[in-house]
Amino acid sequence: MNIILLGPPGAGKGTQARFLTDERGMVQLSTGDMLRAAKDSGSEMGKIVADVMARGDLVTDEIVIGLIREQLETVKANGFVFDGFPRTLAQADALSALLEEQGQTLDAVIELEVNDDVLVDRIVGRAAEAAAAGQPVRADDNAESLKVRLMEYYKKTSPLIGYYYAKGQLSGVDGLGEMADVKAAIAKVLDV
Ligand code: ADP
Repeated sequence: MNIILLGPPGAGKGTQARFLTDERGMVQLSTGDMLRAAKDSGSEMGKIVADVMARGDLVTDEIVIGLIREQLETVKANGFVFDGFPRTLAQADALSALLEEQGQTLDAVIELEVNDDVLVDRIVGRAAEAAAAGQPVRADDNAESLKVRLMEYYKKTSPLIGYYYAKGQLSGVDGLGEMADVKAAIAKVLDV
């Protein structure tokens, strides 16, 4: 089973993706994590994406589609959880072509529904917690980048909600509850 977790920054996609990998043996494909790893490795691509990410802008479709292609071609899994990908209609089309090439299907798109005030509090809180614990704070977890990330989400990613709805693949889940409740709501969608 292959699924997409869709939702704005701070909606809880990463947290829920980890539950799915821990409990269902699925593999999480987070383009954000892959790009951060490229940045930390100091590779050429990492250097190109670092500033774009710190600002909160989207990295080019070409780069992220390349990253996903590489994973789909090399990793064998009991299903993938796409987290933070696709983020544009071009990425969504590329994903369906890639899955088709691999003889795979997209089984569900789960939108984590939240409101913007909560997102800002969660992300600013996440940065403050990390800082207090002496952990690294993400370069884009600040008020300025967050504004850009939200705008990018509404301009480029939120159209995917309509796209997948029209394809009959969208399920909405209330992302405002406790982590365990959100997890249960996702399980209800997947285990039908
Ligand atoms: P968030 O917590 O904002 O959802 P992610 O960890 O998914 O963040 O992504 C962090 C940053 O990495 C994004 O703001 C963007 O710059 C870049 N990025 C991640 N995934 C994509 C993608 N699919 N397309 C373009 N840029 C991406």
